[in-house]
Amino acid sequence: MKNGVKRKVQNVWFKEHQWLRYSVSEDSLYCAPCVLFGRNDSIKEKTFIRPVTDWTNISGYFKRHERSDSSHFRFVEMADNFLRVIRNEKPSISDTLTSSRDLQIGKNRHIMKRIIETLILCGRQNIAVRGHTEERSNFMAILNHAASEDDVLSKHLTQPTNAKAKYTSPDIQNEILKIIGRTIRENIVRDCNKSDYFAILADEATDTSTKEQVSLCLRFLEHTDNGLEVREEFVGFLHAHSIRGQALATLLLDTIDEYEIDGDKMRAQGYDGAG
Ligand SMILES: [Zn+2]
Repeated sequence: MKNGVKRKVQNVWFKEHQWLRYSVSEDSLYCAPCVLFGRNDSIKEKTFIRPVTDWTNISGYFKRHERSDSSHFRFVEMADNFLRVIRNEKPSISDTLTSSRDLQIGKNRHIMKRIIETLILCGRQNIAVRGHTEERSNFMAILNHAASEDDVLSKHLTQPTNAKAKYTSPDIQNEILKIIGRTIRENIVRDCNKSDYFAILADEATDTSTKEQVSLCLRFLEHTDNGLEVREEFVGFLHAHSIRGQALATLLLDTIDEYEIDGDKMRAQGYDGAG
């Protein structure tokens, strides 16, 4: 490097252009961001990523390099972002993506929780879930009421998508109710299996569509803080194809197996009152 140029590089250019690097062994100038981040880019000005050795034309190089439409600034920004991530001053893109995904998961869970809670409330209070129209159902009325004090739920319910994506359609309600029912039954069976003995209570009735329905309950003793307590729990309606004794016995035994009730502990049966 000529001495005059060297002085200028040291005194002016390195101060004004912090991205410049000088290679002693090559006696050449590099633009660090362009060399490091421009290699894999379809950069038009290939000269940007090559070292500058033509010292006579160095100011022309700077002019070309810092043109407003130059890719140089893009690589400077990439280098700047890279350094911020390395110095922990800024979350990386993958971190940002993960946290926004976590946020979405959290929101979705919150929404599902509110929907499930509403269905449980309807069940607990013996309120019909459906109404004359879907919009005017008890379920939607309670959910909309909850949304008045819940921004996340409110945004979800008012977004212009079909009811399926909102998880409020009758199909989804049925699916959720089924899961709730199964969970409640599994809890009852777990408690029942912990007791020493239990009795089954079954009663058959004809429902409004003239199908034979058998209601099944479990009666067992539970050890509580207040001593032994008798629990009588409904576990489900079974559809009977026939009300003959043999068919009913098979249905009950199959159901005990299906619900994973410990049949060896069964000591009594009752066929009245479970209705
Ligand atoms: Zn550059």
